[in-house]
Amino acid sequence: MRCLVLSDIHSNLEALEAVLRDVGPVDQVWCLGDVVGYGPDPNACVQLLRSLSPLCIAGNHDWATLGKLDLQDFNPDAREANLWNRKQLTPDTLAYLENLPEVIEEPPFTLAHGSPRHPIWEYIIYNSTARANFDQFSTPYCFVGHTHTPVIFRLVPAGGEGGTICEQITPGVRERFELGTERAILNPGGVGQPRDGDPRASYVLLDSDALTVEYRRVEYPIEKTQAKMMEHDLPIRLVLRLKYGW
Ligand code: ZN
Repeated sequence: MRCLVLSDIHSNLEALEAVLRDVGPVDQVWCLGDVVGYGPDPNACVQLLRSLSPLCIAGNHDWATLGKLDLQDFNPDAREANLWNRKQLTPDTLAYLENLPEVIEEPPFTLAHGSPRHPIWEYIIYNSTARANFDQFSTPYCFVGHTHTPVIFRLVPAGGEGGTICEQITPGVRERFELGTERAILNPGGVGQPRDGDPRASYVLLDSDALTVEYRRVEYPIEKTQAKMMEHDLPIRLVLRLKYGW
């Protein structure tokens, strides 16, 4: 099965459209949360995503727009953009976001926005955090989002006696990885607000039969998204960061 794995669309319609064009026909779409927040098109993004009948889980920005999270935990720009997003949501969009689960198990994969241990909030940035999280899901592999940074954490044998260490791989664009016998936590990077210094939308193409993943990047008309954000008076720092992929 050809499966598009994406995360952190963040109301960026141009980025989402570019990803869908670039990936071509797929059998399934898996979305790892944060469909809304930050960007200018929350309803259109939810609508387009829903038309693909995805497996989709909730992220912290989705929950914040629903009032399920305290916005005090957000930085001022994220808070302002989230409040603006909240005001735009139609009853239909709200109902969809309300019903998103925190975790989905789709063997041999688990899907969680932040981490399997704390699905909504935890960031997996360090090997130590990834290592601790391998004990928190039972499938061989787990997809997470939330950091907007493409990465693979692998649990590899070390020191004999069944010991393991966690290693981190930064996947190259269009590089294909085989998901072997080693367990792995994979982050496809962010669609609508990449933060690894590359402003192009990031996603993963998974072949769930061959168990291979390909990390991909695609350009989108950033200026168009930025112009909409300016028009709606969204925080300037959020507008500018799209251009730098930060
Ligand atoms: Zn996010």
